[in-house]
Amino acid sequence: MNLCQKCKQEKELFSKKLCSSCLLIVLEKRIKKSVKEQGGLKREEKIRLLINDSVESKVTEYFLEKIYSNLKLKINIENDEYDKTILPFSSEKIIDAFLKTIFNNELFKQKKQIIFLESLTMEELKDVAEIKKLNGTIKNYELLDKIEKDYPGSKHSLLKSIKILEN
Ligand SMILES: [Zn+2]
Repeated sequence: MNLCQKCKQEKELFSKKLCSSCLLIVLEKRIKKSVKEQGGLKREEKIRLLINDSVESKVTEYFLEKIYSNLKLKINIENDEYDKTILPFSSEKIIDAFLKTIFNNELFKQKKQIIFLESLTMEELKDVAEIKKLNGTIKNYELLDKIEKDYPGSKHSLLKSIKILEN
């Protein structure tokens, strides 16, 4: 029997053995916490949202609307006037970007930016895309996945180290 670990009902299960509705609730909570830790979003703030055709981008747009529509954020993708930048990065993307910019650490020096999907993995992003029928290109981080497979917990440790270096 496939029982969701949260609601204990028999349903189709996604990452972490959760059904679609429980998974979305868990991820929403995690995003809220992580956005708050990064300074949070305020009412009617001008947001520069970096978008592309990636699944990260689509999932970011989905959760931004779902969680923060009450803030009436002024989201633009071109205008140069903004209070904050939102980057649609998953945890893998952060590690990948960090390793690539390790000698030229521009990305992580910028203040007033929120890495929206920092607390989500690609696996979870793919689940959300499937549940919500969001089409976006999926980048695979093969090396990272291999390291994680051989040494479980590596992604989490790397992300933690990067966050310490940031401060
Ligand atoms: Zn459930």
